[in-house]
Formats: sequence, C-alpha cells, structure tokens
Amino acid sequence: MNLSDHFTLNEMIKSQEALRRGIKNDPDAPVIDKLRTLCMNVLEPIREHFNRPIFINSGFRCLRLNRAIGSKDNSQHLKGEAADIEIPGLDNRDLAEYINQNLNFDQLILEYYVDGQPDSGWVHVSYVNPNVNRKSFFRIP
Ligand SMILES: [Zn+2]
Repeated sequence: MNLSDHFTLNEMIKSQEALRRGIKNDPDAPVIDKLRTLCMNVLEPIREHFNRPIFINSGFRCLRLNRAIGSKDNSQHLKGEAADIEIPGLDNRDLAEYINQNLNFDQLILEYYVDGQPDSGWVHVSYVNPNVNRKSFFRIP
C-alpha cells in the first residue's frame, strides 16, 4: 500500500524488534491516515528537495513494540505522527536544519548526534496539523 509517491505503509511500520519479538505492528485506519499526512507534509518535501531516498528507521510503533524498545507511552510514534529518519550520505544535522528552516512540523529532534560524525544518530520528526504544530526543535542528549 502506497501512502504517497515515494513512501509505502510497509516501510512506516516495519521493525526488526517487532519481528524478533513476534509483535504484530499493524496500525488502524485513523493511524494510517496520520502516517499519510506525515509523508505528504514532511517526508515528500524532504525527498523532493534532496532528491535522494529517505531511510525510515522507525515510523509507527504499537504500544507493545514501543514499550519493548523502552520508549515513553506518550510517544508520537504510537499515533502515527512521527518518524525517525536518515538520508544515507547526508549529515543528520544538515537534514534537521533543512527541516527546521523550510518545513512545518510539530517536534524535530536531532537524536544521539555527535558533532563531527555526520552519520551519527538520527532525526526524529513529527507532524500533527498546522493549527497545533509546535515547531519545537532540540537535540538529545
Ligand atoms: Zn522518534
């Protein structure tokens, strides 16, 4: 199932951890709509700007999977509103800066990035809708 021109539902739900633990990571229809919204408003514009494939480290996570990897119950990954992404060959800080300066989003987090190591960490980005998006950008740790 395609969510948008360049993104499939499968790549937004697949998880090595879910496979390993036998967790069925299947979102319901309203969550699929949110994943599509994220693809259309955030991932596709990034894909178009850099003209390179985006690797989805983690998109939707059901509660069981989310707890299995030690994430908080209020994570936007549970609602289909967030994805952890990378573009192979692109500095994750440059990716985050591009999103921050050019796109509408809810939360943008440069996670576990080490200065001087372009491929370290990943970029977490979430989208709800333009009326509630906080446009909050920070780094952890
Ligand atoms: Zn995330």
